[in-house]
Amino acid sequence: VLPVCVMHFAASSLVGESMQQPGKYWRNNLVQTLSLLDTLVACGVKHFIFSSTAAVYGNPEQVPIPESHPTRPINPYGHSKLAVEHLLKDYEAAHGLRHVVLRYFNAAGAHPDGSLGERHEPETHLIPLVLQVASGRRPEIARFGSQHPTPDGSCVRDYIHVQDLCEAHLLALRRLEAGGASATYNLGNGLGHSVNEVIAAARRVTGHPIPVRDAPPRAGDPPVLVADAA
Ligand code: UDP
Repeated sequence: VLPVCVMHFAASSLVGESMQQPGKYWRNNLVQTLSLLDTLVACGVKHFIFSSTAAVYGNPEQVPIPESHPTRPINPYGHSKLAVEHLLKDYEAAHGLRHVVLRYFNAAGAHPDGSLGERHEPETHLIPLVLQVASGRRPEIARFGSQHPTPDGSCVRDYIHVQDLCEAHLLALRRLEAGGASATYNLGNGLGHSVNEVIAAARRVTGHPIPVRDAPPRAGDPPVLVADAA
C-alpha cells in the first residue's frame, strides 16, 4: 500500500545546540531529509508535509511576520530547514512531489487528558522548564537576556498550542489530497508573549514564586518572533 502522504517531523531542533554543532544539523536535517525524499520519489509517493520553522526568517524586518518575509536565518538550525524548503521546490519541479511547508513558531502545551505532552531529554524549552521550577524540580529559571530591544527586555515568542499544530497538519493533508498546489504557512497564533510574561502567567496559575536568574542572551536567538497567522 502506497502512503497518500508523508509527514516529516524528525529533526534536530535546538537553536543553541546548532550553533555549537552545525554539522549535526546539516546532516540530520538536510542530508537525512534528502535521503527520505529520494526514497519517496523511488516509491512514487506524491505528497509531503514538512515541519519547518520560524527560524528561517532570522531577525524580522516586520512583525507580525508574513510568509512572504525574506528568509535570512541567523543560526544553522534555520539554515538547515530553509535548505530543505529549497530542495522541495526542486523536487516538485523534477518529480512532481507536491508539498506543504509548515513554519512552526513555538510549539507548546499538552493534550488536555494528559496522555500526550512535551518531554525532552535534556529539557531546554522555556515553558517546561518554568513548570519544573513551579513543581519543585528546579530551583530557578534562567532568563536568557534582559536587555533585548523588546518592551520588557526579554525575548518575545509566539506560542502555539500543539493541538492547533495538529489540526493544521490535517488541513494541509486535505489540501494536498484535494489537488491543492504546494504552499507554505506560518503556524503561530499571531500573539507575542515575552519570557517575563510566560513566567508571570506560571506564577499566577501555580502560586509558586518561580525565582529568576539573569543569564546572558543565548547565541542565535532573535529578540522577537511573532507570526502573521492570516
Ligand atoms: N529561554 C529562557 N530561559 C530558558 C529557556 C528559554 O529565557 O531556560 C528563552 C529563549 O531565549 C527564547 C524563549 O525563552 O527567547 C523560548 O525558548 P525555547 O527554547 O523554549 O524555544 P525557541 O524559541 O528556542 O524555539
